[in-house]
Amino acid sequence: MQNVRVELGSRTYRIAIGPSLIANLGVECKNLNLGQKCAIVSDSNVSLIYGETVFKSLKSAGFDPVLITIPAGEISKNLSEVQSCYELLAHHRVERKSFIVALGGGVVGDLAGFLAATYLRGVPLVQVPTTLLAQVDSSVGGKVGVNLKAGKNLVGAFYQPRYVACDQSVFATLPDREYKAGLAEVIKYGIIYDRSFFVKIEQNIELLLKRDPVLLSEIVARCCQIKAEIVGQDETETGLRAILNFGHTIGHGLEAISGYGQWLHGEAISIGQIAAARLSARLLGFPQIEVDRIRSLFSRVGLPTHIALPASDRRRLLDAMNVDKKVVAGEIKFVLARTIGTVEFGHGVPEDLLMEIIETLHEQGLN
Ligand code: ADP
Ligand code: ZN
Repeated sequence: MQNVRVELGSRTYRIAIGPSLIANLGVECKNLNLGQKCAIVSDSNVSLIYGETVFKSLKSAGFDPVLITIPAGEISKNLSEVQSCYELLAHHRVERKSFIVALGGGVVGDLAGFLAATYLRGVPLVQVPTTLLAQVDSSVGGKVGVNLKAGKNLVGAFYQPRYVACDQSVFATLPDREYKAGLAEVIKYGIIYDRSFFVKIEQNIELLLKRDPVLLSEIVARCCQIKAEIVGQDETETGLRAILNFGHTIGHGLEAISGYGQWLHGEAISIGQIAAARLSARLLGFPQIEVDRIRSLFSRVGLPTHIALPASDRRRLLDAMNVDKKVVAGEIKFVLARTIGTVEFGHGVPEDLLMEIIETLHEQGLN
């Protein structure tokens, strides 16, 4: 087992990474000085596969768990689901010293985290992320929240968990598309922060696609470490934390114009990162050969690298980016790369160049 500490003063917490952590969850929670009662919040898929293991682990460590299951899918990440969960928490007499265990992917983590942040003005939270995306991204950093009809994650809070258990054995049941989408965030860490990590992924792609648990533990640990370092320096995104958004401006735009149904987040940011690399080549002298390496790695993983957008959709994509949160003083701000491993945030990009790059996205094999 490896440990990553997220240093946030009195809210410092530990992320444990390794196999068998789910079965040992109860024992680990014993050391956290929590109340006896706890609510496991999970979704209909994950609860069916792992609910019982987690329940028994907590029970045999002396806790008194209840299992609350929400329907699987992004559709559940809304305020009426939150309301139903509040009522269930109250019904089961979850009180201030009780804790909430978020067992699932990003959807469960965000919603259960929001419940923990707000129910009784805050109860302790333990995260047990079960998708690759959630283990390397949404479980670190404390962003919790739900969607509104007007947009994703528009209601939320910064709320840090007390403990995070990242168990790689749960990837055995993760659908292929979800797994690959998670790899898009993994590769992002190499591009924004650690060139040798990027190379390691390039060199181990076959093992990675076989979901080798030893390699995956190392990879998840490194991603958590990088995110923890970034978040530790800039918890609320006043500066540096923005580099985590590499590829996300265009990625979020693609998700928005497709009504959040067509692309998984990881797929959208795969295309977004390729576009950001091309923008970097035009504006910061990012080497063309590195643009090729990035595109080639996404392609080998089986992630989308191009997209056919009719002219009207290209305009809609630009408009969607304009309403995204990263617009400052009318200019769309981008995270751009100098080399693989070194990026800079806050670069304004002229709209005509952006349109030009979007146009390159429909051509397969073009850099
Ligand atoms: P994300 O973490 O990408 O935000 P979700 O929370 O929406 O994703 O989870 C994606 C899908 O994968 C959901 O249908 C969820 O129920 C399912 N899922 C999550 N973790 C696992 C797992 N370990 N095994 C099988 N299915 C899982
Ligand atoms: Zn992301």
